[in-house]
Amino acid sequence: MQPQSTVQVMGIDAGGTMTDTFFVRSDGRFVVGKAQSNPGDESLAIYNSSEDALAHWERTVDDVYPELVTCVYSGTAMLNRILMRKGLAVGLICNRGFEQIHSMGRALQSYLGYALEDRIHLNTHRYDEPLVPVSRTRGVTERTDVQGKVVIPLREDEVRQATRELVEAGSQAIVICLLQSHKNESSEQRARDIVREELKKLTADIPVFASVDYYPSRKESHRMNTTILEAYGAEPSRQTLKKVSDRFKKHGARFDLRGGVIGSKLLGEYLGDENIACSDIGGTSFDVALITKGNFAIKSDPDMARLVLSLPLVAMDSVGAGAGSFVRLDPYSKSIKLGPDSAGYRVGTCWPESGLDTVSVSDCHVVLGYLNPENFLGGAIKLDVQRARDHIKAQIADPLGLSVEDAAAGVIELLDLTLSEYLRANISAKGYNPAEFTCFSYGGAGPVHTYGYTGGVGFKDVVVPAWAAGFSAFGCACADFEYRYDKSVDLGVAQHAPDADKEAACKSLQEAWSELAVKVIDEFVLNGYKPEDVLLIPGYKMQYMGQLNDLEIVSPVTSAATAADWNQIVEAFENTYGRVYASSARSPELGFSITGAILRGTVVTQKPVLPEDPDAGPTPPSEAYLGTRPFYRHKKWVDAALWKMEALKAGNHIVGPAIIESDATTFVVPDGFETTIDKHRLFHLKEVK
Ligand code: AMP
Ligand code: MG
Repeated sequence: MQPQSTVQVMGIDAGGTMTDTFFVRSDGRFVVGKAQSNPGDESLAIYNSSEDALAHWERTVDDVYPELVTCVYSGTAMLNRILMRKGLAVGLICNRGFEQIHSMGRALQSYLGYALEDRIHLNTHRYDEPLVPVSRTRGVTERTDVQGKVVIPLREDEVRQATRELVEAGSQAIVICLLQSHKNESSEQRARDIVREELKKLTADIPVFASVDYYPSRKESHRMNTTILEAYGAEPSRQTLKKVSDRFKKHGARFDLRGGVIGSKLLGEYLGDENIACSDIGGTSFDVALITKGNFAIKSDPDMARLVLSLPLVAMDSVGAGAGSFVRLDPYSKSIKLGPDSAGYRVGTCWPESGLDTVSVSDCHVVLGYLNPENFLGGAIKLDVQRARDHIKAQIADPLGLSVEDAAAGVIELLDLTLSEYLRANISAKGYNPAEFTCFSYGGAGPVHTYGYTGGVGFKDVVVPAWAAGFSAFGCACADFEYRYDKSVDLGVAQHAPDADKEAACKSLQEAWSELAVKVIDEFVLNGYKPEDVLLIPGYKMQYMGQLNDLEIVSPVTSAATAADWNQIVEAFENTYGRVYASSARSPELGFSITGAILRGTVVTQKPVLPEDPDAGPTPPSEAYLGTRPFYRHKKWVDAALWKMEALKAGNHIVGPAIIESDATTFVVPDGFETTIDKHRLFHLKEVK
């Protein structure tokens, strides 16, 4: 037996329906695992999913976890925890007189994410519970002005008092966020140290989060929300990872890494595709992101769960329609409504143990032959087709006067249409032409609907990776191990300013970078890396003076000092501005302003290496053939050929109607479509002309 290479990287995607894991060995080979999510004990789902993946290498969690160098965690589990208000009991310390900032929120937050009909009908609005109630908020006397000058020093006794009261009130974490702390962090840091001292005296083992240590950026509601979320939602995930194994050497827990997009970027590099439409369908949502010219867009003040945040995230658009969405008839119009809620890990009425009695899209899938009731999660969950039929008949088919098949097919067509319109609109609204894009389709349910939402859109190519079901976890494993720190600055320089002004601005920017570099390197050292292993990448946010929005730019210079450096900094900004908006919209006459310094540090980690299988010709091997299954679409039953995904070889060509099954995903190739699998185990789907 050849010596086994060690397992270095683990990616986790804890979704609402499934928990996916992905492991990469030091030779770049990888395996994917999947298990049903378990909201009651997330660590159990991660454990099961890991065992599922590692079984491919005949290894176990106990012997692999100690070898891991990096683990990247991402997941809607964190988001769900926030939406369902099931996070930690957080205590908040802010400036006296500002105890209501968090509960009042921004006006914008009251309608973010609502459908149009709910935006215009105020009476259907519900205001979300704040993450931290006022009863667990304490104001302390302190004021720092907008220039960063401390005008009222921090009353330390009040901080001590507040800490005691917050512990008394049951806080499991304490967040500190003071006004203008991004301009001058001294008061907030002092408050943080006092809180820690006081907690020690009380022997209370409670984590403390100061906004300046995480997101020292302007806009206090964003900064406060983000820091609260870190304590409220992310901290429990960190604790979960600890619970899975104390042997994790390192782990990062971030809100949401948008893993699939990073994975798509890597695949795009393999295929030489620079423009990619990434689409992910799981049980609960459909997520779309675009990669253009090899880059994905970053949004620096995104929103999540109706909270405005200051946290750079890959820009992505989501619609709450997935394979597990509930299906209901509107009582007045009798039209079919999908979602917004979903069966989640409970699949649908087709799973007798689900305890559900509302039809889900999955019920329609089993009734029409899209999904194999004996192969859900490789057969770990057995689905009952008759049970699904009965529910569809009573809730959808009978009220509409349709057969069960036609009612179910109507649901599938509606979902396909919704997704396809959404994808198309997302591309054309940004001014792009689908013909210049390759569409990647993944998520457990992506391949079930790839034909449905890409058909007729006119993509250059449509790609389904064989490991589609674990693709987001794969993306997490593709991510660079990176720490990033931001700092707000305010540096304005006129268009034809004298060199001295440019040099002064460079000096301030360089000071900010140097300060951030210390923080970034500290993080890596904490994780066992040497400072010399860290590649530092400086960046900045810049805008034309007086305009409202800044753009994030990777700095063309590694350090800033001279007027020539400044000119390069401006040039890089203007190039990006011209690309994002239009060249003619550039307005250098307004002057330039840098609003933020950014410093990213990365270290080299083992990336997955895609297989390079030899071409085995168009005819699939006979052992891949599993027989046929009746499949209903366009008002008729046909016999679809069934294939085992893992047994197909590079070069194999399959013409629809066919269904390609794997343990955790199902690739549906209906009549009128054909697919070929390439040497990297990527399926390319084509419409037959
Ligand atoms: P995800 O949330 O990305 O894990 O996707 C879960 C969805 O994958 C389910 O709701 C199913 O619609 C779909 N799926 C397709 N084939 C399978 C399978 N063999 N086992 C489990 N889920 C599957
Ligand atoms: Mg998923």
